[in-house]
Amino acid sequence: MVVKYTLTPVHGSISYLPGPQNIGVIVGANDGDCAIVDSGLTKENGKDILKTLWSAGLSVNTILNTHSHADHFGGNAQIAASSNGGAVRIYAPPVEEAFMRYPVLEPTGLFAGAAPIKPLYSHFLYAPPSPIDVVVSPGPLELPQLGISIEVVDLKGHAAGQMGYLAGDVLFVGDLLLPAQVIDKYKVLYCAGVAEHLASLDRALTYADRVAAIVPGHSPALTPAEFTALVAINRAHFLDTLDFIVAHLQANGPQSSEAVLRAVCAHYDFSVTTAEAYYLLQPTIYAHLSCLHQQGRVGWQVTDNTALWHSL
Ligand SMILES: [Zn+2]
Repeated sequence: MVVKYTLTPVHGSISYLPGPQNIGVIVGANDGDCAIVDSGLTKENGKDILKTLWSAGLSVNTILNTHSHADHFGGNAQIAASSNGGAVRIYAPPVEEAFMRYPVLEPTGLFAGAAPIKPLYSHFLYAPPSPIDVVVSPGPLELPQLGISIEVVDLKGHAAGQMGYLAGDVLFVGDLLLPAQVIDKYKVLYCAGVAEHLASLDRALTYADRVAAIVPGHSPALTPAEFTALVAINRAHFLDTLDFIVAHLQANGPQSSEAVLRAVCAHYDFSVTTAEAYYLLQPTIYAHLSCLHQQGRVGWQVTDNTALWHSL
């Protein structure tokens, strides 16, 4: 994928490279070295990121990954091998780092833990492996190679271990939230843990009045007011899907997860036609059912060799 990046200021010494996947840029104390937040989808993205930053007088010595989806770390291996004489420190959250070191875990996980079918080895689901130097945890994080410190923010849910990064007055939130037009287009957004995601939306909101800007993974930087409004839209959509599933089970009796998936597609008037789309939707339906199970709103049993969900 050819992306022409432009270094775009956000606030203070924090910038980003807007694109299909935004790349955060955090300049170090010496003004010459920088960290990037995520690295795009492909090797070519990695090369273009380095080229754009080199021409701005910046050398990448740090990558901070928000999560292990291929479009957020696909450039890691290229950048690690060719930037700063190969001395690039790569930081990633727990669990996510395992998927980045062993990328086959992504298609395997989507295919119920089994050997995946070939279409799931697409470049959106299967990136080159990345070395990992530091596994982060929420709280302050020193970056001695840049002479600065940042804060790691727990944003798990979209991916099992997703974390955001607060640098200066800018919060990078990975795929915590998507723009309203993307929700309108795709209807049900991939999510590994709905209960965890809803908690992360709440947690992220507590940062809104102490930051200058928020940078999501796939849409332009937001003001705190825009961020607050978009969190509400994302939250409402997840709650609507949860409520729909409960109402559907109440009206139709016990249903398999496949039947729930079909009902959700019919309710929002969309269909999935590719292996990628289907095997991203299936675990997302599981994530909603699992959230409802935690909330005590649905029950589960095996009947006639079929796993069935029912309302409580
Ligand atoms: Zn993602």
